[in-house]
Amino acid sequence: MTNRRCILLGARVQEGAGRLGCDMGPSAYRAAGLAETLGGLGLAIVDAGDLAPAVAVERAHPNGALRHLGAFAAWTEALAEAAYRHSAEGIPIFLGGDHSLSAGTLSGLGRRAAQEGRPLFVLWLDAHADFHTLDTTTSGNLHGVPLAYATGRRGFSGYLPAPAAPIDPRNVCLMGTRSLDPAERGAVLEAGVLIHDMRSIDEAGVVAPLRAFLGQVAAAGGRLHVSLDVDFLDPGIAPGVGTTVPGGATFREAHLIMEMLHDSRLVGSLDLVELNPFLDERGRTALLMVDLAASLMGRTVLDRPTQSY
Ligand code: MG
Ligand code: MG
Repeated sequence: MTNRRCILLGARVQEGAGRLGCDMGPSAYRAAGLAETLGGLGLAIVDAGDLAPAVAVERAHPNGALRHLGAFAAWTEALAEAAYRHSAEGIPIFLGGDHSLSAGTLSGLGRRAAQEGRPLFVLWLDAHADFHTLDTTTSGNLHGVPLAYATGRRGFSGYLPAPAAPIDPRNVCLMGTRSLDPAERGAVLEAGVLIHDMRSIDEAGVVAPLRAFLGQVAAAGGRLHVSLDVDFLDPGIAPGVGTTVPGGATFREAHLIMEMLHDSRLVGSLDLVELNPFLDERGRTALLMVDLAASLMGRTVLDRPTQSY
């Protein structure tokens, strides 16, 4: 993408996670110098501040485990509108906040892509698939449902606004997956979501699968959204998250993915989610996430010719 303008938007949502603290994420990214770092790459940076959703109206659901469904609905509605609006102005970067915020960002970006007459593709970098529905989640934590909602799985209507343009699950690529329960695994496979789990990364690396996916996005003239969950990374380098799963992506794997994404010029928007500064160690996870965003936006050690897909 040739757009050289980034819009930072904080979403202090923490109700979707099992523990508190993600609401401090946007502040941590600012303290870690996200705007200055990206600005140093020659990008025009606009910090649009933090989004304020409408007051939540709590609602009952047959699944008694669900927590904060009303807050989730309010955030989803506000974020969908903001994502739609800001995606016309440049590359929006959504600063979470827990991963439930992606229900809103994907909904708004899907609407934007549909209006442009392009398909929306999603690269989901996460230990989890976040493909539960309101009925199937047993934890009740709504950061486990955004991908199911945005791809139009059943069971959300009446509780959330319907996504304006549900994303084709076959345009979604999961990478780094290593924690799926059986019901979710079946649903993901049945929907046709592309999965490169940690075992396949161990076996084949990240380059070939990512190159194939980017080729697919380019061939379709698609708009690409990247959703980066801190727990995609190995807990040894990224401890500041409430859902650590051993065996995550290494420092080099993560940077390589970001560099390839930059080379592709296809990325139109980014979520940085699940950072929990309360669990971090002297800001190291926030700083790593800022460095990864910088790699995605073009920071390189050596200049290389642009790869055309
Ligand atoms: Mg997630
Ligand atoms: Mg996760």
